[in-house]
Amino acid sequence: MNDDHARARMQVLVRADIAAHIRLGRADRDIQRLLRVPARAVQSVRQQLGNAPLRRVRDRRHAGFADVFWGSARHMPDGHLLWVGTTYDSGTPVLQVGSQLRSVLRIGFLLGHGREAQGAVTSGCGGERCVEPEHLLDHPARVYIADSLTALFGDPRP
Ligand SMILES: [Zn+2]
Repeated sequence: MNDDHARARMQVLVRADIAAHIRLGRADRDIQRLLRVPARAVQSVRQQLGNAPLRRVRDRRHAGFADVFWGSARHMPDGHLLWVGTTYDSGTPVLQVGSQLRSVLRIGFLLGHGREAQGAVTSGCGGERCVEPEHLLDHPARVYIADSLTALFGDPRP
């Protein structure tokens, strides 16, 4: 892959990411700050989308963590959200605000489900390094899915 091709592909990915934030209802200046992109990049994508309306982004209580979360994740064209921020040596994504360290998966779950996760949080989509809030499952969500599958297809245990 030559440099021009790589640059073009990166531009497409950045525009897709900006578009996802616009659809979530974020203001231009918030998107510029989160993704570190110039104002004209956001304005051009917004024009293309037909000026999607602004909505208030929910849950201001966790605004500091939410900002770091969205600023360190990139929307992929296939619907997954790729973590590009800090990870532990083990690969587990971690998020820092001031002196506070939090699990990215737990913050993502909170942002997507509006409640604290119970038990371990895992990505239910199989996407590599995916932290899309809607793709994250906690223990009760996994039990619910397992029970639903058992009701549909029967008990997998012999
Ligand atoms: Zn995913």
